[in-house]
Amino acid sequence: MTAPSATTGRFAPTPSGDLHLGNLRTALVAWLSARAAGGAFVLRIEDLDPATRNPDIARRQLDDLSALGLDWDGDPTWQSHHLDRSEAAVERLTAEGRTYPCWCSRAEVRAATLAPHERQLADGATLPPGTYPGTCADLDAPGRARRARETGRPPALRLRAGGIRVAVADRLAGEVTGVVDDLVLRRADGLPAYNLAVVIDDDAAGVSEVVRGADLLSSTPRQAHLADLLGLPRPSWLHVPLAVGPDGTRLAKRHGAATLRDLTTTGWTPRQITGLLATSLGLTESVGAVDPTRLIGDFHPASLPPDEWRVVPELLHPPGRPRPVA
Ligand SMILES: [Zn+2]
Repeated sequence: MTAPSATTGRFAPTPSGDLHLGNLRTALVAWLSARAAGGAFVLRIEDLDPATRNPDIARRQLDDLSALGLDWDGDPTWQSHHLDRSEAAVERLTAEGRTYPCWCSRAEVRAATLAPHERQLADGATLPPGTYPGTCADLDAPGRARRARETGRPPALRLRAGGIRVAVADRLAGEVTGVVDDLVLRRADGLPAYNLAVVIDDDAAGVSEVVRGADLLSSTPRQAHLADLLGLPRPSWLHVPLAVGPDGTRLAKRHGAATLRDLTTTGWTPRQITGLLATSLGLTESVGAVDPTRLIGDFHPASLPPDEWRVVPELLHPPGRPRPVA
């Protein structure tokens, strides 16, 4: 356990597949941010969903981080080993009258979010698309019994958030305000929802700064609201712009060589890949092998590039090797 005043950063991969360049780049930023502050850096395997509980993939992810020269403090933790902590938070919020059961299926929620919302925010605006409109929020006891009978399945448990606006501060994006809808806290299968588990597990690990991909920026107001309700300190947030393929869509396998293994097969060394990532972050000028400890001294989060990183094929040609003649 680190002292509460010290910085603790983290990286929390989901073991659903090998880390691609965008994930590795985010891990490098998270590691640099923690180490530049003289802080600890911890790893958490986000294997909440049974479909992603693959220890072999998790170990490959850890190996890849090590190969890049990123180290961590203590043993990695496994989200699936600590579900009881999140469940305790669900029970506490329920005891405070802040939750309600919801029997809506995924398809029903999707249909409801597409329909115009009747429910309004406190300031008169309607809930934005994609937010849960509170279909089950006001069911009385007979109404709940009817839904349970009709659906024949256990309910999820939702937070009675009421669509409030919550502002968060991001170290790169600045202040971001989002609407917090009645998000799921406990899924119908009994597992804690991601938005809750991430808040609980970060707090349990003493995490004071969260550095992760920009795709999670929109979830941050929800997580901040949960931390506030549970009386937990908010961490600081830095959302790293995503890596995208040549077509501008999120980097994926279809874009070709994208993982550390893909690149080492074509002749890259892991430290050259660290160099490629460092160049993309404006931390080094010329591509070449880089020991990440050499980047710590000059790391300033505010000077990170604010735009997505477009991974074009020319970037992935191994350094020092002759280029094929077109
Ligand atoms: Zn519902």
